[in-house]
Formats: sequence, C-alpha cells, structure tokens
Amino acid sequence: MQTLTDKTVRPAQFYLKTDRTFTGIRKFSWVLVPIVSFGSLYYPLLGLFVFAIMIAIMGIGFFQGRYWCGNLCPHGSLFDKVSMSASKFIKIPRIFKSPVTRWVFFAIYMFMFFVRLARVMPLWGNPEFMGKFGMLMGKQYLVMPTVLGFALSMLNPRSWCSFCPMGSLGHVFYKIGKVTKLNHSFDKKVTIASTDKCHKCATCARCVRFSFRLSRISMIITSSAASSASAAEPA
Ligand code: SF4
Repeated sequence: MQTLTDKTVRPAQFYLKTDRTFTGIRKFSWVLVPIVSFGSLYYPLLGLFVFAIMIAIMGIGFFQGRYWCGNLCPHGSLFDKVSMSASKFIKIPRIFKSPVTRWVFFAIYMFMFFVRLARVMPLWGNPEFMGKFGMLMGKQYLVMPTVLGFALSMLNPRSWCSFCPMGSLGHVFYKIGKVTKLNHSFDKKVTIASTDKCHKCATCARCVRFSFRLSRISMIITSSAASSASAAEPA
C-alpha cells in the first residue's frame, strides 16, 4: 500500500478528488453532449443548439460571468459527472492555464466560427441554410470540446475548461458589462454560507484582487474558525 512517504507519491502533482455539489441540471445536462455532437451528424438541425448555447453564454456571461460554467454547461457536467471516476486527477499543466493558450484558442475558435458562417451565408434565405449551419456548428461542438475536452478530462476533469473558448467568451462579455458598467448591480458579494463546510483553505482569497478584501476574507475565516472552536468546547 502506498503512503505519503513513498517516493512514488508526490502530492504536489495531484489534485484531490473533491465532493462536488450536483444540482439536477449539473447531474444530467451532460446527456445533451452526445445527443448534439453525434446527433447533428445525422440531424443537422440539432447543431443549432450549439448556436443557442453561444447566445446563452454571452447573455449569462454579461451579467453573471462564468455562471454558465459552474452551473449549467453540458460539458462541465460531462467532465464532472462522467469523467471524474476515470480521471487521473493530474495537476493541470501550466501551459493549459496560460493566458496565451486561452486567448490563442479563443481566437482560433472564433475565426473558425466566422469562416464557417461566411461559408453558409450565401445560402441565407434558402431552406438549406439552417441545416448547413447546424451541421457546421455540430461538427465544431464535436471536435473541440467533446473529443478533445473529453480526452483531456482523463488527466483532470476540468483540463479543457482552463482554456475553453466558450468559457472565455463568457468572460469577455462579463468584461464588456464591467466596462460599460451595465452589470454592476448583478455582482453578488460572496460570503461563506455554511461555515461548517468551509475547509479554511483560503483559496477564495486568491481570487480577490484588493488587499483590503483579502484581510476581510481572512477575518471571516478566522472568526468562523474561532466560532467553530468555541462551539466544539465543552460547556
Ligand atoms: S469552460 Fe467551457 S466546457 Fe468548461 S464549463 Fe465553461 S463553457 Fe463548459
């Protein structure tokens, strides 16, 4: 049996498997991935669902950032629900998380989208248009997030999400909302809802930019630790 002192085990190279919270949507939305990816090869109109997803990501992203990724995305559900048991949970390589990789992929994805759109636009107004457009969208959905994303999820479930162009699209729209100041009222203050579930890892603190917010979070964590400790003390 391996122990943490074995030389073969290097904890820094692994991510811990975590208990993830699954709502009904997160549990089952993955079934849409094979239906749309493979189904659109035979029923091209199914590929239009991918366009609807893009619109949803842009709309939700504008107001709520990457809410889609954590709560609704069929691929996110696939990686978390289906891939998780088979995944090696290897630490996601740095190159996947690099902003250069993310924006290069985003540029390639959007370029391909517009090239394909330009290819079918001459059919606009023709009954064939929807079918051709759906077929192109379905193929893009099949090759990029489904095949590549699923293969990478064997390393770590959310490897693909590190540089997913759709996730970046949501982020871009959120930034547009920030710049235009149209989404400020939709920002929610994040607090620890269930202090008993907080592991006090301070990961949340890394997401916050300003030091005064960092100190505020550490105060919350410290006070929650203190209240847990006092609750645990015998009367
Ligand atoms: S990053 Fe992409 S694949 Fe991952 S959850 Fe977000 S939209 Fe889905």
